[in-house]
Amino acid sequence: MTMLILRVALNSPLRSLFDYLPPDNYAPGLFAPGQRLQVPFGKSSVRTGIIISIADTTQVAKHKLKKALALLDETPLFPARHLKLIEWASHYYHHPLGDVVFTSIPSSLRKGKAAKLKQEVIWRLTTHGKTYQGKLDPDELSRAKKQLAIFQFIKQHQNGVSQTHIKDKFENARTPLKELSLKNLIEKTTAATEKPDESVSCQNDNAWTLKPNREQQNAIDHIINASTAYHAFLLNGVTGSGKTEVYLHLIRHILVSGKQVLVLIPEIGLTPQFIDRIRQRFGDNFVALHSGLSEAERLISWLKARDGTASVVLGTRSAIWTPMPKLGMIIIDEEHDLSYKQQDGLRYSARDLALIRGQKEKIPVVLGSATPSMESMKNARDGRYHELLLSKRVSNAQLPDIQIHDVRNEKMHGAISQYLLKNIEQRLHNKQQTLLFLNRRGYAPVIMCHDCGFISQCPRCHVYMTFHKHKNRLQCHHCGHSERLPNACPDCSGNQLIDVGHGTERLEETLAELLPAAKILRIDRDSTRRKGSMQKMLEDIHAGDADILIGTQMLAKGHHFPDVTLVGIVDADRGLFSVDYRASERMAQILMQVSGRAGRGESPGTVIVQTHYPEHPLLNKLALHDYDQFTELLLEERQQTQLPPYSFQVLIRAEANQQAVAMSFLNIARTRLQSLARGKLEIYGPVTAPMEKRAGRYRLQLIIQAGNRQTMKKFLTPWIENLEKLPEARRVRWSVDVDPQDMI
Ligand code: ADP
Ligand code: ZN
Repeated sequence: MTMLILRVALNSPLRSLFDYLPPDNYAPGLFAPGQRLQVPFGKSSVRTGIIISIADTTQVAKHKLKKALALLDETPLFPARHLKLIEWASHYYHHPLGDVVFTSIPSSLRKGKAAKLKQEVIWRLTTHGKTYQGKLDPDELSRAKKQLAIFQFIKQHQNGVSQTHIKDKFENARTPLKELSLKNLIEKTTAATEKPDESVSCQNDNAWTLKPNREQQNAIDHIINASTAYHAFLLNGVTGSGKTEVYLHLIRHILVSGKQVLVLIPEIGLTPQFIDRIRQRFGDNFVALHSGLSEAERLISWLKARDGTASVVLGTRSAIWTPMPKLGMIIIDEEHDLSYKQQDGLRYSARDLALIRGQKEKIPVVLGSATPSMESMKNARDGRYHELLLSKRVSNAQLPDIQIHDVRNEKMHGAISQYLLKNIEQRLHNKQQTLLFLNRRGYAPVIMCHDCGFISQCPRCHVYMTFHKHKNRLQCHHCGHSERLPNACPDCSGNQLIDVGHGTERLEETLAELLPAAKILRIDRDSTRRKGSMQKMLEDIHAGDADILIGTQMLAKGHHFPDVTLVGIVDADRGLFSVDYRASERMAQILMQVSGRAGRGESPGTVIVQTHYPEHPLLNKLALHDYDQFTELLLEERQQTQLPPYSFQVLIRAEANQQAVAMSFLNIARTRLQSLARGKLEIYGPVTAPMEKRAGRYRLQLIIQAGNRQTMKKFLTPWIENLEKLPEARRVRWSVDVDPQDMI
């Protein structure tokens, strides 16, 4: 007799799968990979697992083999080819399959909740309602304006509208709904989900008034012509060149062919604006997946995508894992953005996974950016990506004039040079907006004692604590530790504590003193903590209810502020000199993005970059808006130093309460890898991480570098499996980061 063995992934750091016998009372044909099972684990615990494969043999001894308790899903959570993507990620990132599968699904499914949409109340027209002509019978509906509006809203949706949807749209809808149904114009049914209406999804022609310009049309045509196979496109378009408009046309094309589109956007800032534009074009035929959703909302969106009822899925990083049965295209906006890389747990890059997913599903992948990553620029140069240029701003709006401003020896008002101040005043006078960019929140990055030189350092991390004046507290931006500002120096009891340097909070204070009449809005993580506050500030900006915007990188991305004509980069120097070789790439990207905020409307823009190094070659390429030339310089540098994208890196980090413990683990690890790879890999370290200590733990790292991915993988797979078995591995927290983006 053959056995039926269910091979199950559990949410655990263990690499192996677990074999179970099927639960009692289930026919053998019911099981398939991708279904969840409830299984006994250890002595008395019950866990949720996912079937990865079905086998007829097992290595587990008969008396140890346990029975699963129950099958949680009739149908798999995702199709088999989606499981292939998950398996790929597990191999590529050297991460346990169980953890990858569980990372990839919404948390309520991890906990075993049902993967089914609840029945919803759906309202639709009755036969009488369908033939009813509101105008023929003036008395009946014309007095009840809300009834008429709701009636017409339902009429627009052939398949009916859910009650939730109606209540979202109309306040106090209960009574009018009741009245309408009493009049026998509408009736209630229930369904698992409101079926989006094909007719409103794409042919909302009023919303398609913009005619694509030549470059946009060229990009659209190219991509559409290749939309039945895998192709990677790099849509390289300066800010304001109409990339989003291109995406919208592509989405329309894919929807018309009956397929779904996945659109990824960076984590912060962009979501509401993007959602509005999508809604305007495609009605409610989309779902959003981002960190602002509740668990229940997330599950509903995920299920609609998975069931194919939502045609467009718009989401941040983790949306790359959404199963979509009819996926026809993936679009990644701002592909260079760091938020696509997860920095803990499964350290995946959603952008890189999107390309793999595109290959597996044989669909095009569109990467868009005004400042593509060096990886993508190189791929375009090597012909792996098809590059499509949008070189001009829409309606020929001028690119801003970028001035590299030497602040050496100049009179400063806090962080603002006399020159920048004069320019701000002039904008105020002309009723135009200024945006000041400073990527450092809080009041001052350091508090120092004038008597003894004491500096406020986080007791748990190797970083200075930022002074937040408003709260009168010192805060560590790495671990969240916070304490009251001491009255006197903790070291020498002196009372001359001075705040050094400038954060956004201080910049706001400085400007309020210099320009008391100006309306200043500060937009950073502190000022936007409350739900809806970001949206409110954006509205104020658009209504002209702000003169000066002060922002961190939250403000740099994607926003469109037509009245901003001056952008000030308060401190450009930090990006030029850093231990992280990617810092100059990031500086360039932020500079170009922030500059892109200037002069998007009628008036041309100016960007003033404050620096102590006005001759720096990279800055000067940027001043010419020459991201291509900048790329050229930077890629040359990377090639000479054999850094990515000219090599591949894996970072192994170990953290422990004692430095020696982490060191000894990494030393053993290094020795093992050396004897495995015999010179085929370069191994650097162990060295202390740039941030030596974080949240009380010492941090050390090993960097492994190879000329190609295959070599890397060949040695790393057996090595990492081996490391897991080391007793030393249990005494440290360690992680594997493939293609690390952040070495700090
Ligand atoms: P990007 O995504 O490249 O920053 P957007 O797509 O947001 O650019 O376009 C910038 C602005 O130009 C938007 O207000 C958009 O509505 C407008 N726009 C885009 N394409 C066109 C076009 N072909 N004709 C007129 N206006 C356009
Ligand atoms: Zn800290």
